[in-house]
Amino acid sequence: PTFEELHLSRPLQKAVAKLGYTQPTPIQAKAIPLILNGKDILASATTGSGKTAAFILPILERLLYRDATHRVSRVLIVLPTRELALQCHSVFESLAQFTNVQSCLVVGGLSNKVQEHELRKRPDVIIATPGRLIDHLLNAHDVGLEDIEILVLDEADRLLDMGFKDELNRVVESCPDGRQTLLFSATLSDDVKLLAKLSLSQPVRVAV
Ligand code: AMP
Repeated sequence: PTFEELHLSRPLQKAVAKLGYTQPTPIQAKAIPLILNGKDILASATTGSGKTAAFILPILERLLYRDATHRVSRVLIVLPTRELALQCHSVFESLAQFTNVQSCLVVGGLSNKVQEHELRKRPDVIIATPGRLIDHLLNAHDVGLEDIEILVLDEADRLLDMGFKDELNRVVESCPDGRQTLLFSATLSDDVKLLAKLSLSQPVRVAV
């Protein structure tokens, strides 16, 4: 399919064209329609497959039609490292450039005060590493996950390898039951399958 056939709105078509993406990658062609349909997905995809845009584009599509006067954080994206979170944030900003969707980066090494201030403004999307996110959740009480509609666990195998099991369980429990959850992992170890069981509801398997 083309990006037009994936039913993405004008502001997203414009961003995709500006970035020079001429055609969806296989993971994008498979995952975007499922995510737009509200499905939970368990995707095996590696870096370089275009997986970041595969979840950011449908998330932005959904957010374009939110009630922007009702300020709540609706999307949480969790990644294992500061570097991956920065990369994800940069892809997000590029794809969101013709929209009014607000995002906030929550990682170690940035000022806690600045992040607290940003989080209290209830950005539409929070892009975070587990350690810093838990800090805000448990200590500063400035992050609200009660209105999260979509939770993304990216590089789930690395998240678990790095010892974030308890933090992830905590985050999953702090998001509402009726949310949509998207889990991406390069490998599907037993630990990842356990996390999938805990966090996903009737997931569709996506492999490319
Ligand atoms: P990722 O797998 O998400 O780390 O993306 C790998 C690289 O592919 C990034 O630099 C993206 O900007 C780029 N990319 C993502 N989707 C496409 C596409 N449809 N066409 C060309 N490049 C893309």
